[in-house]
Amino acid sequence: MHDAIVIGGGLGGLTVAIELAGKGFSVIVIEKHAYPFHKVCGEYISNEVRPYLEHIGLDINKLGASTINKFQLTSIKGKSLHSPLQMGGFGISRYTLDYELYRIALNIGVQFELNASVEDTQRINDTFFVDTNTNKTFQAKVLIGSYGKRARVDKVIQRPIPKQQTSYLGIKYHISLDYPKDLISLHNFHGGYCGISAIEDNKFCLCYLSQTSNLKHKSGIKQMEEDILYKNPFLKEIFTNAEFLFKKPEVINEVVFVSKSQVHENIIMVGDSAGLITPLAGNGMSIAIRSGFFSAQLITEFLQGNINRTELEKLYISNWNSNFRNQLWRGRQLQKLFGKEKISELAITFLKNLPVLMPLVIRSTHGKVLEFDH
Ligand SMILES: Cc1cc2nc3c(=O)[nH]c(=O)nc-3n(C[C@H](O)[C@H](O)[C@H](O)COP(=O)(O)OP(=O)(O)OC[C@H]3O[C@@H](n4cnc5c(N)ncnc54)[C@H](O)[C@@H]3O)c2cc1C
Repeated sequence: MHDAIVIGGGLGGLTVAIELAGKGFSVIVIEKHAYPFHKVCGEYISNEVRPYLEHIGLDINKLGASTINKFQLTSIKGKSLHSPLQMGGFGISRYTLDYELYRIALNIGVQFELNASVEDTQRINDTFFVDTNTNKTFQAKVLIGSYGKRARVDKVIQRPIPKQQTSYLGIKYHISLDYPKDLISLHNFHGGYCGISAIEDNKFCLCYLSQTSNLKHKSGIKQMEEDILYKNPFLKEIFTNAEFLFKKPEVINEVVFVSKSQVHENIIMVGDSAGLITPLAGNGMSIAIRSGFFSAQLITEFLQGNINRTELEKLYISNWNSNFRNQLWRGRQLQKLFGKEKISELAITFLKNLPVLMPLVIRSTHGKVLEFDH
């Protein structure tokens, strides 16, 4: 019997696991894949969590992460707006970042069940039972759901997820390109937007979110890119000059931005499982880490007998809401301005005429620096 089981070893799950194991609790992470592996993500990570990641032993400079402190936004017709990024961030691939956190977790005593998918969960009295497709059952006092944007687990635990009218897909490439390393660009196209920023090893991450309907009547992703993304002259230039380093892109379907519950059937939800911020905010990774961190603080209190399960759940929901609810809402409202020709054109013209506004818009989608005990 473990103190805690973590379903999904992304940034949220690894953070909870590292924090709990660091306090001497026994933790197992059940992860569908084996590290290292690629994930659809823009790979720009806000400096909100940089001091924390360095504190737990991640040597960001040594890993070759890029330093990003400039922002560019372009409209479908090719209008461009530049702004400094106040807090800024860094660029590092999820392949490297998740793998390095996995190694930190292993060193601190976290156990892993890799290449294993959670198939069923139930709670009997005060114990959770978790079954995997590797025909194993694990038991623990606390169960953490950090299985990301969408998962079979939601169906298994009968968690109601509201339907979203528009369905999105996410696509990622690593590319080689002659492009500024300190810049994150966000390029609009009909029904979506595409981010480009530098990561380690002189590579760039090119990642976009598109309405799934863009694929209708197209022979595939390539034709969609040529017919729709290339209408933005910046994207056409990037796509035609870049060297694509993957044989095929990383793709995810059915990305949803609806509000979710932070606790379901006594399972504490962390990161995207609790709520996904629209990618244009460049803040989902930081939210996953921050929610992983503060969930672990409260779970510690529960495991030490200082609060009961009801108090743990209430405090977690209230913490989540005060930290992220408004930020997620603002991200959803901003996304409505993107991917629509006239609106994005007007918004960029407006922001170009009032340059003081842009830093305020950026700040509204960002959170606070994660504070921790040294
Ligand atoms: C197109 C796009 C671009 C983005 N760009 C950025 C960006 O530039 N910056 C940023 O900060 N955020 C960005 N985000 C958001 C960011 O990727 C997420 O918010 C972040 O990865 C959340 O971390 P997580 O730990 O909650 O989930 P994940 O990192 O998704 O981890 C979930 C883990 O659970 C595992 N899993 C799933 N189901 C099961 C199961 N049944 N059993 C076992 N394991 C399971 C998965 O394999 C995965 O490893 C982007 C999102 C999208 C869609």
